[in-house]
Amino acid sequence: MTRPELRISSAIFRANIQAVRERITPSALMLVLKDDAYGHGLRWAVETALDAGVEWFGSYDIRSALDVRRIAGEARIFAWATSTDDEIDEALARDVDLGVGSVEYLRRIIARAAVLGVSARVHLKIDTGLHRNGVLPENWESAVSEARDAEQLGHVVLVGIWSHIAEASDAEDDEAQAVFLDAVRIAGGFGAAPLLLHLTASAASWWRPELRGTVSRIGAFCYGIRSADGPELEGLRPVASLTAVVEELVDGAAMLSIGSFDGLPSTLSGAPVGTPGGRRTLLDIGQTTARVEGWPGMSVGDEVTLFGAGDSGEVGATALAERIDTVGEEILTRLSPRVRRVIQE
Ligand SMILES: *Cc1c(COP(=O)(O)O)cnc(C)c1O
Repeated sequence: MTRPELRISSAIFRANIQAVRERITPSALMLVLKDDAYGHGLRWAVETALDAGVEWFGSYDIRSALDVRRIAGEARIFAWATSTDDEIDEALARDVDLGVGSVEYLRRIIARAAVLGVSARVHLKIDTGLHRNGVLPENWESAVSEARDAEQLGHVVLVGIWSHIAEASDAEDDEAQAVFLDAVRIAGGFGAAPLLLHLTASAASWWRPELRGTVSRIGAFCYGIRSADGPELEGLRPVASLTAVVEELVDGAAMLSIGSFDGLPSTLSGAPVGTPGGRRTLLDIGQTTARVEGWPGMSVGDEVTLFGAGDSGEVGATALAERIDTVGEEILTRLSPRVRRVIQE
């Protein structure tokens, strides 16, 4: 059976990056790369983004930050998952910026930096309401105070203050920003003047200019994945499209060489897909095959697009995701290795 293909357009990725940067300037783009660059492939994403002038990369964990370092040379890399001491050592040796969401983690970083005789670049995270890692407001003063003491000793440089917001309602995000700005003000009272202030991801960076900091951490929109239940994005297009070949014709329907084992959720039956005859319905999805409503002149070897930029009637990954109450990112990141990644110019 012909393997399904995830076709990845470097030109669209570069154009999206350009559009995002124009939109958020003077805030700087930090391209978020978690989950193998949202299923697009880390190496390709970093190389293409460097080519497009990206200077900041956001990598969830230190392991993948080190992978980025091997590809990205001198670029700035930010890793925010709390890690082991061994990984901290490697991050410090490779000049990775560390996101720090607890006093316990801060202390371990300070201790490792002291042992290694280096200065750790730290972005301290305030919990602005999501309760997903982050120093609670009531502990913020003492955390900043400890960071400042370590700064005086040369073990850390407090380069940033950051948080993560829900992007679910404007009112909640406004409240989160108030807590964030308060944390920045308190840090200022301790004599800290971090230049890197970052709060927003794709949606808030795009739609809420007043929330943007000096840096914006953006993944989804650069890959052309809009928010679930969010509007279409003017000037951004899906970077990846998923295609499968017609293997067999059965009773007026086309059997495709893709199924749930390839990561295509079986609950997507009934979804629209793109065919040489235009938009058709995905009738059902088995483990290794899927059946699509036929079109005039269909034949074995024809190509069907499961999601993509819409050129043959298909919808985007987020539109598929909305049918099964998930997000577009998940449609991409759950594709199996049998789906061949094909990079296109
Ligand atoms: C995933 C993530 C982002 C990027 O979110 P998008 O909506 O994909 O832009 C930013 N910051 C943090 C902390 C994240 O985990």
